[in-house]
This record gives sequence, C-alpha cells and structure tokens, in this order.
Amino acid sequence: MSEPSGLSGLMQGHGLLISSLLRHAARHHADTEIVSRRADGGLDRRSWAGIEARARRLAAAFRALGVAEGERIATLAWNDWRHLEVYYAAPGMGAVCHTVNPRLHPSDIAYILNDAADKVLCIDPGFLPLLGAIAAELPTSLTDIVLLDDTLPATLPALPAHLRLHAHEALIDAAAGDFVWPVLDERAASALCYTSGTTGRPKGVLYSHRSTVLHAFGINMADAMGFRAVDRVMPVVPMFHVNAWGIPYAAAMAGAALILPGRQLDGASLHALMNAEQVSMSAGVPTVWLNLLAHLRSTGGRLDTVQRIMTGGTACTSLLIDAFADEYGVRMEHAWGMSEISPVGTYHALKPAQSALPEAERRRHLLKQGRVLALLDMKIVDGEGRELPWDGVQFGDLKLRGPWVTAAYFGQAPGSALDADGWFATGDVATIDADGFMEITDRSKDVIKSGGEWISSIALENIAQSHPDVAEAAVIAARHPKWDERPLLLVVPRPGRTPTEAGLLDAFTGKVPKWWLPDAVLIVGELPHTATGKLQKTALRARYADHLLALKTD
Ligand code: ADP
Repeated sequence: MSEPSGLSGLMQGHGLLISSLLRHAARHHADTEIVSRRADGGLDRRSWAGIEARARRLAAAFRALGVAEGERIATLAWNDWRHLEVYYAAPGMGAVCHTVNPRLHPSDIAYILNDAADKVLCIDPGFLPLLGAIAAELPTSLTDIVLLDDTLPATLPALPAHLRLHAHEALIDAAAGDFVWPVLDERAASALCYTSGTTGRPKGVLYSHRSTVLHAFGINMADAMGFRAVDRVMPVVPMFHVNAWGIPYAAAMAGAALILPGRQLDGASLHALMNAEQVSMSAGVPTVWLNLLAHLRSTGGRLDTVQRIMTGGTACTSLLIDAFADEYGVRMEHAWGMSEISPVGTYHALKPAQSALPEAERRRHLLKQGRVLALLDMKIVDGEGRELPWDGVQFGDLKLRGPWVTAAYFGQAPGSALDADGWFATGDVATIDADGFMEITDRSKDVIKSGGEWISSIALENIAQSHPDVAEAAVIAARHPKWDERPLLLVVPRPGRTPTEAGLLDAFTGKVPKWWLPDAVLIVGELPHTATGKLQKTALRARYADHLLALKTD
C-alpha cells in the first residue's frame, strides 16, 4: 500500500497479523480451555497460553527444518490441538498453512499437494495409509513429514527415501522456547485452501494475514458468530474446510474456549461432548445437525448448554430450524459463504422489521442466507451484467467484493478472478430483498432452464424436504425435448415411510408456480455427497439427465 496523498494519520501502524490474535488470547485469556477429543476417545486439555507456547516452539522447529517465508506447510488432520498449533505456527513464522481435505479422492489430494508445492506435510496417524497410497505422487518440493503424535510408529508406509520424518511432540520438545513471532507484512500469505472441486479441478485460495484478521473481526460482530469470552465454541466444521469458517481465529480474538471434536463426528459423540464440555455455540453443515437431531430424538437426549448453532455450506431446512428451536430451545443461525470469501459472506440476523413478523413468516425468513457482513458488498446481476432490483423475487448471479474476497486463484495473475469492476462472481444465483437479506436460489450451473425461464432447484428441494416422509431430496435439471430442461425430483424416504409420487407433488401445490412442478419423482436409497457434504449434483445429472427423455414426456 502506498503513502496517502493527503495528510497521513498519526496512529500506530501495527499490521493485522495472525500471531497477534494468538498472543492476545495467551496474554488475556491465558487459562481459557482448548479441549480436544483424542483419537482414543479421551480428552486432551490445554489453554490458550499453552497453545501459544507450543506454537512458538513449533514455529522454531519449522524454521530449523529450513522452512522459509512463503513456503507451504500442508496438514491432513482433524480438529484438535495439534492441528491448531500448526494453524498458528505456520503463518506466525511467515509460512503458509495449507489445509488439505482428507476426504477428497487420493488423486485429488496428490494433485493439490503438487499444485501447492508443499514443503512440509503434518499428518494425523490415521491418514498414514492414505499417505502410503499417494507416496509415488508426492511433490518433489516435499522435504519433511510431521506425524501429529507423540512418537513415530514402528511401521510406516514406504516413502521416498529423501523425506525426513518427525513426531510432532519430539519436534516441540527439541525446539527452543525463546522464539519471537516476527513482524510480517500484513499482506503476506497466511493460509491456503483448495475449493472442493465441485466446479472442476480444485483451485487454491490464498488468504493473507490482513484478510484473515479482518474476516475474524467480521464474523465476531454481534449479528454474526459474535463470540464472547464466556463462550465455549465447538467447530464441527473441519479445520480443513475453509479454516473451520474462521472459528480458530475468531475464538482467539474473543478469548472463547474451543472444544475440538477430533474425528468422532457422529450424533452420539457430538452430543456427549457438547454436554460434557458445556458447549454454548457450535458450527457445521446441515448433515451434521440432521445426524445430531436423529440421535437426540431416538435417545431422548437433551442439549444442556448449547444456545445456538451456526449452519452453512448448503441450505438450511425448516426442519432443522423448527426442530432445534421447538424441541431443544436452540437457535439455528444460517450463514452463507465459500472458500473464495474466507468463507463467510452473509449471516442471518433479524432486523426489527423481521423480528416483528408473525411467527410462521419469521421462521420462513430464517431460511434466507442473511445480510452481507460489514466491509463486504454484494449485488445480483442479470445475464448481461445489469444489476437487478432488491425485491426478494428477481434472481440473478450473485457477486461480492471486499477485503476478504479472493482476487485471483493460487498461481494465477493478480485480479484474474474479478470482473472489470472488481467484483467476484460467486457462481451462485440469489435474490436480495428490500432489507438486504440474500437468499440463494441455486448454483448457476444447477438452475433449471425451462423454456427460457429459470426454476430454482433449491426452492423445490426445500419444499420436498419439508414433507414428513422425506429424509433428503434433490432436484436436478433433466433434459426435455420441448422445454430444454425440466425439474426431476429424487427423494430418499425417511426410515419406514413409503411416499408416493402424487403425495410428494401435492406438497408443492400453492407454494410455487404450477410450471415449476417436477416432471417426475424418483425414490432412491441414498444421494451422493461431495467431500464437504454437499449434494453432488454433477453425479446425479450424469446418471439421471436423460430420465425424462426415456419417459417420453411431452
Ligand atoms: P465449493 O465451491 O468447491 O463447493 P465451498 O465450500 O467454497 O466449496 O462451497 C461454497 C458454495 O456452497 C457456495 O457457493 C454455495 O453454493 C454453497 N453454500 C454455502 N453456504 C450455503 C448456504 N447457507 N445455503 C446454500 N448454499 C450454500
């Protein structure tokens, strides 16, 4: 950034650095807990002060391994304290923390490690077989592997001979304790995350210290996650999924406790941990909450301390909002974002006008993805790029801009991900209402183009999903001889229920225009999901796109 052309302000010029967040937590919330579920089921207890001291040692160790500023340190790990230490050690010393999603196909993981040209890989022992499977495809840039454990196991997969192996604890024990967090340029790269590839080959989004700290401030506003020092926050969203939505940073900033669930993400494990550790707030994708709900309902369990749950990644359903509010007194908070937006772009919090709505309408409103966070801006545009009105009805391509929105993908020219006016096209289609609440109606490639008009697949899915016999629903564009595309509904029934086509189609009556009604309904055993839990519509389209042609509908 250049000097201002007018009069310079006379305030201190401290950069926005990730290490400052951790230093703040360690100094002002020293004893606040970081509790992690270990692989053996037991709990590990640390504090912000303890994590900071260990992260500094780890940073010193990385430096001793020869990691230079800007080099990438990859992780293949669940949410626990060791992963958190890498999260802070890597950017804190000027390197880049590159979280890799272990649920991706091994060939994608190998591609991502090579594209990022990682230098070090920190890996949970549970992923060693995966490491063995891609051993021949590891990048030549890789010099060191750090096993996130006390010691190295007796047997390891066959790995290239030049790789050095270390146990995380041995590295920390051997490192100097006097490492001081360096003063870095706030625009330096801090973390790297690849998009999950639902839209093609994974692409790297490279965050900076500045974007990360501003995002942490943004999500810490009261109308967003708004953490407080009394909070005990459990990110179920994995730390390899867009930095656990920024929670590890925002929690340090607020001095909140972190409860990290490790690899046990089933309903029973989450329920037990939430109550045992007095979790006040949690965050994750809808599938996680559906599993938790099923567990609570089948066991009669209660949520003793949870006040609110943030949901995002895919659309939240009224079933979730209603069940958690009415049966457990928990507020579901709906947010929207993507890797390219760090990830949080919008968060649903009521304005006075929506608070005053009749209960049913207010509940319906909560399904919207919310208002844009301060410092960001959004707009919707038509096919020609003209901005559309905020009437809550017209939908168009959603664009965003702001200090935590990506400008270019890793390895590509600066600004290459933006349009001529500096806006980032999200690939989502949305409405915005007069009060600025955005609602996703589709991803641009999923919207159903029927005779030149657009039908929202998500709107149809929401209606199908509210049917009492439906566990999960998907609507895809199926080819049609007359209308180009028509909606095809796929439904997974709830256990023990046998919904009929007529009964399911009845659910749409009066809720959408008649021409939006699905042309056919298929009952299926399950629906495919991506590595981040989203419906995999590409797979569904590949399988069912010609279904209506086969039916010879007119
Ligand atoms: P990818 O783009 O590779 O699938 P992301 O995790 O970045 O990976 O996903 C971002 C996308 O997820 C958004 O563009 C949007 O389509 C979808 N999404 C995120 N949150 C929501 C939400 N609350 N409601 C509907 N869709 C959502």
